[in-house]
Amino acid sequence: TTQRRIFSGVKPTGHLTLGNYLGAVRRWVQEDQHRADALFCVVDLHALTVEHDPARVRRLTRQAATLLLASGLDPERCTLFVQSHVDEHARLSYLMECTATDGEMRRMIQYKEKAPREQARGGSVRLSLLTYPALMAADILAYGTHEVPVGDDQVQHVELARDLAQRFNQRYGPVFTVPRATRPQVSARVMDLQDPTSKMGKSHAETAGIVYLLDEPDVVRKKIMRAVTDSGTEVRYDRTEQPGVTNLLEVLASCTDGKPETLAGEFTSYGALKQATAEAVLELLRPIRARHAELCADPSYVDGVLRAGAERARGLARPRVDEAYAAIGL
Ligand code: ADP
Repeated sequence: TTQRRIFSGVKPTGHLTLGNYLGAVRRWVQEDQHRADALFCVVDLHALTVEHDPARVRRLTRQAATLLLASGLDPERCTLFVQSHVDEHARLSYLMECTATDGEMRRMIQYKEKAPREQARGGSVRLSLLTYPALMAADILAYGTHEVPVGDDQVQHVELARDLAQRFNQRYGPVFTVPRATRPQVSARVMDLQDPTSKMGKSHAETAGIVYLLDEPDVVRKKIMRAVTDSGTEVRYDRTEQPGVTNLLEVLASCTDGKPETLAGEFTSYGALKQATAEAVLELLRPIRARHAELCADPSYVDGVLRAGAERARGLARPRVDEAYAAIGL
């Protein structure tokens, strides 16, 4: 068939955040699974690139998969699985390492940001932190993916996957589909509520500015009401002059399907904006939390979904990865 294929993933390095949901998961649920053959993956191999606790990674992998189902991914409409259940990712990753260059890996913004952070923690930098985009390219290319719906922070890695697909195809034959990233119009980059110049990231140590999907309602309200806004009193949609207010406007717009520019005109105080944003976020999270609790009570259902998902994914990836092995001379 000529159906489009979509692939995307989430790392089990921490609890899922509002940034993950508004930047990626919501589109997977509301659009992608309805319009294409969509595969969604909890990319647990990627959680090993930084200092990690084995039991915690296993727990977070399970929780992420459960939350994706709770958010509305429907196993009748899409394929949900865990990366390490499908060997093809690691198999193809090596070929991607043999296609990419050392220089292009070192130029990745995330590596340049994360490597010094790991060093500052007194640890050493794992080699996999550098080569992570090769594994991510393998994740995408193994499935003949056309589109990769991601937030802003992942666009550069998808572009690298694109370059690697083209390079591989040119040298060894037309094995891979050349993918492209798609990003949401609003909330492609949800910022930390306490530091609106940096993104809301699930693995950050300081959690006061991060809304997790499973935070208790009073915690969510408190975090949003305490969000750092800007000096001044005007509510303006202006990312450079009013990053804090703009972030809240984007979150509110995203939750209510509104336009941040329009919403800006409806508020005359920061307090009212925060109040409205908190209510909208709570409304958004309520059904997800409820469904998550239900699914936690039915672990064999989640097991079954992940088993079937891995089986389908394996069947799709295997022939293409075999073809890549043959093309490259193995
Ligand atoms: P994290 O940085 O939270 O570990 P992942 O790498 O697991 O996120 O990304 C899962 C998806 O969520 C990706 O598509 C990523 O672009 C998106 N995403 C992550 N953080 C944000 C954010 N703050 N705003 C918008 N999208 C985000």
